[in-house]
Formats: sequence, structure tokens, C-alpha cells
Amino acid sequence: MGLIVQKFGGSSVANAERVFNVADIITKTYQEGNNVVVVVSAQGDTTDDLIEKAKEINPKASKREMDMLLTSGEQISASLLAMAIEKLGFPVVSLLGWQAGFQTSSAYGSARINNLVPDRIYKELDKRNIVIVTGFQGINKYRDMTTLGRGGSDTSAVAIAAVMHADRCQIFTDVEGVFTADPRKVPTARKLDVISYDEMLELASLGAQVLNNRSVEMAKKYNVELEVLSSLTRKPGTIVREVNEMEKLNVSGIAKDTNVAQFSIIGVPDRPGLAFRIFSKLGANDINVDIILQSIGRNGTKDISFTVASNNRAATSELLGDYIETLGASSIIYDENVAKVSVVGAGMESHPNIAAQVFEALYNANINIRMISTSEIKISVLIDQELADLAVRVLHDKFFSPDFTA
Ligand code: ASP
Ligand code: MG
Repeated sequence: MGLIVQKFGGSSVANAERVFNVADIITKTYQEGNNVVVVVSAQGDTTDDLIEKAKEINPKASKREMDMLLTSGEQISASLLAMAIEKLGFPVVSLLGWQAGFQTSSAYGSARINNLVPDRIYKELDKRNIVIVTGFQGINKYRDMTTLGRGGSDTSAVAIAAVMHADRCQIFTDVEGVFTADPRKVPTARKLDVISYDEMLELASLGAQVLNNRSVEMAKKYNVELEVLSSLTRKPGTIVREVNEMEKLNVSGIAKDTNVAQFSIIGVPDRPGLAFRIFSKLGANDINVDIILQSIGRNGTKDISFTVASNNRAATSELLGDYIETLGASSIIYDENVAKVSVVGAGMESHPNIAAQVFEALYNANINIRMISTSEIKISVLIDQELADLAVRVLHDKFFSPDFTA
């Protein structure tokens, strides 16, 4: 007998029919002789709807009350799912995050799991109950309910799988797994059988929103193997785990991120300490900088360009706008009409010619590159936003054509 953790996202339990579909998956797993712990998200768009409701009453509601409200979404789906399983004739119990043992930091809205003490879950499993746990929530030291941040149910599931040493952790969603590119944009994109944690993190932060980033980081830390699969088609999905040398693909996916803004500070005095001053100012204000490019100094000045997430665009302008004079730079310009396209692959490290092939494919499509950044497992280029889908397509054609060799 194994211990299986199954997590179902909001779309998988969106209505009564889907709830019964999920109940069927769970009870089949149970009938195979397994202990089953289920983590569930709020139905469909419930969390968004609750946020809207709060805004109608008080747009400045405290974070504590927001968490009091948002935790209710998962309470609804967990109890409804338990009722469906009862109806199918199986023993089941639903538990709120705190009952399941989730102890968190006090940061309402973005709490961290400090500890998970699953005594109650063990007790229920001993009685051969199917256990349904509300995702995305826990309790803090004040005994108040907290939430783990949007998409946090994945993390709840991984935490349970890690602490209880589950044999399998399945994340059910509405896509069949992790694809080589967005299948809605690239019809030839195909599902990957296996992907490494690091590649998954790159692809997730690049907009392939299949798994919540924190959950992948936690899975990596505790070596929890994940399977991402569809609750609707029930076909084998994508396994996320550590991959060995032999399994490493040179390119495993192409991702696009349009949530980027490019800044350039023009005429920065060409002497030590300027980059330090600029980026420490941004860092101190929690603004993450991604790609950085500095021109060579000429006539005593240089230009420094960098990118930030679009939602930090205004804060960055504000912080640096006034600072330009203090720095002795001449001006600052920004452009939001940009996108970052990234080629990700764990085997890239040992194949230095991948970069050249990226540039060749873009050149053949007449796409101009504004900035480049590389890491061991990724090559990113910043390009005009309207060319991003084309770039993804030509790169996908290049690296996933049957005759591609690195
Ligand atoms: N219901 C929460 C959200 O929509 C948590 C989750 O879905 O994982 O963010
Ligand atoms: Mg949700």
C-alpha cells in the first residue's frame, strides 16, 4: 500500500460534474489499496470573485480579513468534494489547513509554511479515510488563518508529500503536462515526459504557468518527484524531478514573457560605483532586475540598460527619475513594448553552439535582438513584443524539428 498525494486545481473542480470526475479519480486510487491525501483549490474563479466582493465593500481591507475571506474558497471545494466521495460510498473526511497541521508565518496573503504537523491526517488515514485538505492556507502564531499567496495550493500539496514521504505527488490541472512551448501558439509543441526542477523553474517564471514556483523550489529542496497531468484526459503527464546526465535535453522548451519593461540610463559617468548605486537603490525597494547590459565607456560616459517586471515599471521610474541628476547621468528612457523569449535546456551547458543557433533562427526571421542574457540552462533575448510569438515559433521549429542536432 502506498501513500499518494493528489492536488486538484480550481478548473478541475469548477462545477458538480467536475467534482464527481475528480471524486472518481480519487476513489479509483483508493480502491487500488492506497492511502490518499487530496489537496484542493477553490472552484474555478472563486478566489478572484471573492477578491472582487471584498473590493465592493472595502478596497483597503486589512490583509487579515482578506485571508479570512479567501480561505473560505477552499473550504467550499473541500467539503463539496468530500460530499461527492461520500455519495460514491467511500469513507472520507475534509480538513482545513490548520486541522491538517499547517503552521505558517504571520504574513497574511503571502505566508510561508513554518511547520507541518500532520497528526490528524495520519489518524484519519489509520481509519482508512480518504483525507481532503484545503490548499493555500494555514494558521499563524495568533491562531489566525493565513494564505500562502496566489496559486499556493501546489505548495500545500508538495509540503504534505515531503513531510509524509508520499510515494507519489500528482498535480492535476487542465493541461496535459509541461509542453515544449505554449500549445495554443505553437501547434507542433509536444508534451515532455520528464523535466528537471531547474528547467521547470525557468519555464514557470517565463510564463508557462503550470506549477507555482514556490512549490517547485520546495519539491527540489525535499526531492519530491511531481507529476503534472490533466484531470480531464487522465493520460500520463510530465514528471518533474532531478534528471541525470543522459536524460538532459539540449533544449526542452521555449518560453515567452511579455511582463517586462526595459529601462536605459543614458550618459552615466564612467567611473566605479555607479552600477552599485543604481542597483542597490532598486534592490532596497524590492525591485528585481533581470537582464543587465552596459555599453563600453566613451568620452567619459556609458549607458546602462536593464529590465524589470512590468508591474515594477512605475516604481522604477519614480525611484530613478529623481536620482538621475544625483548620479550625473543625462536621461532615463523606458520601453514596455518588449518581450523576453527564452530557450531552456539542462543539456545546453555542454553544447556551446546552441546560442549561435538561437541567433541564426532569429536572424533568418529578421528579428532584431535588443539584449541577451545567458545562464547554464537558458538563453534569453529581449525583442520587440509584437515579434515574440514569431520568435517562439521559429525557435521551436529550429530546435524541435526532427533533424535538429546540437
Ligand atoms: N485558490 C487560490 C488561488 O486561486 C490558490 C490556488 O488556486 O492554488 O490563488
Ligand atoms: Mg485558484
